[in-house]
Amino acid sequence: MRTSRFFLSTLKEAPSDAEIISHQLMLRAGMIKRLAGGIYTWMPIGLRVMRKVEKIVREEMDRSGAIELSMPAVQPAELWQESGRWDKYGPELLRCKDRHQRDFVIGPTHEEVITDVVRKEVKSYRQLPLHFYQVQVKFRDEIRPRFGIMRGREFLMKDGYSFHSSFADLQREYRNMFDTYTRIFTRLGLKFRAVAADTGSIGGTGSHEFHVLAESGEDALAYCPDSGFAANVELAEALAPSEPRAAASAALERVATPGRTRCEDVAALLALPLTRTVKAIAIVLTSATGASGQFALILLRGDHNLNEIKAQKTVGDFRFARDDEIQTALGCQPGYIGPLGVGALPVFADRSVAVMSDFVCGANEAGFHLVGVNFGRDLAEPAIIADLRNVIAGDPSPDGEGRLELCRGIEVGHIFQLRTKYAEALKCSFLDEGGHSRIMEMGCYGIGVTRIVGAAIEQGHDERGIVFPAAIAPFEVCIVPMGYAKSDAVKAAADALYAELTGAGIDVLLDDRNERPGVMFAEMELIGVPHRVVVGDRGLAQGKLEYKGRLDAESQMLPVAEVGQFLKGRLCAG
Ligand code: ATP
Ligand code: MG
Repeated sequence: MRTSRFFLSTLKEAPSDAEIISHQLMLRAGMIKRLAGGIYTWMPIGLRVMRKVEKIVREEMDRSGAIELSMPAVQPAELWQESGRWDKYGPELLRCKDRHQRDFVIGPTHEEVITDVVRKEVKSYRQLPLHFYQVQVKFRDEIRPRFGIMRGREFLMKDGYSFHSSFADLQREYRNMFDTYTRIFTRLGLKFRAVAADTGSIGGTGSHEFHVLAESGEDALAYCPDSGFAANVELAEALAPSEPRAAASAALERVATPGRTRCEDVAALLALPLTRTVKAIAIVLTSATGASGQFALILLRGDHNLNEIKAQKTVGDFRFARDDEIQTALGCQPGYIGPLGVGALPVFADRSVAVMSDFVCGANEAGFHLVGVNFGRDLAEPAIIADLRNVIAGDPSPDGEGRLELCRGIEVGHIFQLRTKYAEALKCSFLDEGGHSRIMEMGCYGIGVTRIVGAAIEQGHDERGIVFPAAIAPFEVCIVPMGYAKSDAVKAAADALYAELTGAGIDVLLDDRNERPGVMFAEMELIGVPHRVVVGDRGLAQGKLEYKGRLDAESQMLPVAEVGQFLKGRLCAG
């Protein structure tokens, strides 16, 4: 490609609303243009990167034995009513009506459509297993679209769905996909980690997420370097402390803590470690059945944080209580609430709280806390003890070996064993060897193609711009001539190198714009081209061209005749 025939549109400054570096750099490099919240146009330079990601994903999916098809973005509501997700999916599902007032959705995912295809096509065990995949635009009306294309509303996903006659065969394909995803992210040149994951609203049993490791990642991951354990913090179990509760040794006392509403502030005032404090979180149960509307307390150690997914599993659906509800239930403003004197209110205690003695908690009186509090003596033993918190660094690994460390990641892939959830709802069955009708086992496997582009930049950048892995850079090599329009020798050498590299299948950008060298260099660095060759009269006089890798501190002079071979070697090395 020649710059004169391409479209580059870079910016010196990032727009102020771009919060994270990948979003800033994508805007500055002219890769994307915002149309509406979470909806972007992929400009030519961005599209090249997206297509390269897509190509690697497609090659590895084909190699894995999956078969590509393409399903519609617009889907009839009836299918979603049949699966039960018309009611369950919530406002992330974009719904619309056609001219006949029939309901449709813009697909956020395609379990329903693919299951409909398979239930109509597949009758016999002989046709199984099957794995269909597509690379297709999804729409999710995300509550908070942000970070550019990282959490967009419209985005490109590779979604695959497999169908099996037995659970064992689903597990085989699940492992096949685990290995395929590992190959994909390795080929993309990304640092990543696969972690056990919660199955969320999609449901099913086994599930792993693939995360690109980056400080700005939305997900916290827990892993154990000794045992190899790795899980999303949403899921990672906090084991019950092994040491028993110490005997009560302090007297119960009420102390004034004016203006100290956080455990940190109370601990500082009383000169006690944060680990001696207990925080009470007021919730209202909202499950459709049972105790809906019931006010309740969750108790956590002061240095721990609530894990809402774990809490939901223990207490059922809930929301946080409003200030006025706390006032009504406990006669006290938030910040000073605690588990003493709360009568018959349900109290859920985290495992770590259950072994505490002589602890500090709110007195249910504004401006006061209690110290020297002990279960069994000052208040009843907690009725319900469960794992309700996020693990923290240093916690024992749930598999019993070593200690956990934490890091952050960007979820770029997710594989699920769906089992029969959708097949059952949509009556997707087959005749087994004995002629009996059975429900199919299903797996589903997603990769966020557009999110990968952002994640790669989040992981690869410096003060000059994007540092793309060569596998997905918009161009592998740029040729920057000094005076393309002025010097015949420069033009001839640049054109010859361009022809040679292009002929060798290398993706080259020849910058033939006659801009100032500084402008061309800065732009090529900003858009993340990994290899640069400068063609100038001075070098040519010695039969040389100047080469510089995107991360090299110094450039090097190479004989003209060797540059092509040198670059081929570099690109093969990755
Ligand atoms: P998240 O927890 O980030 O919302 P998810 O669990 O909803 O993701 P899946 O339904 O498993 O995601 O979708 C498969 C992949 O699609 C994800 O791993 C992610 O890479 C990508 N993806 C999901 N939502 C978005 C989005 N709003 N913008 C861009 N990519 C997305
Ligand atoms: Mg989501």
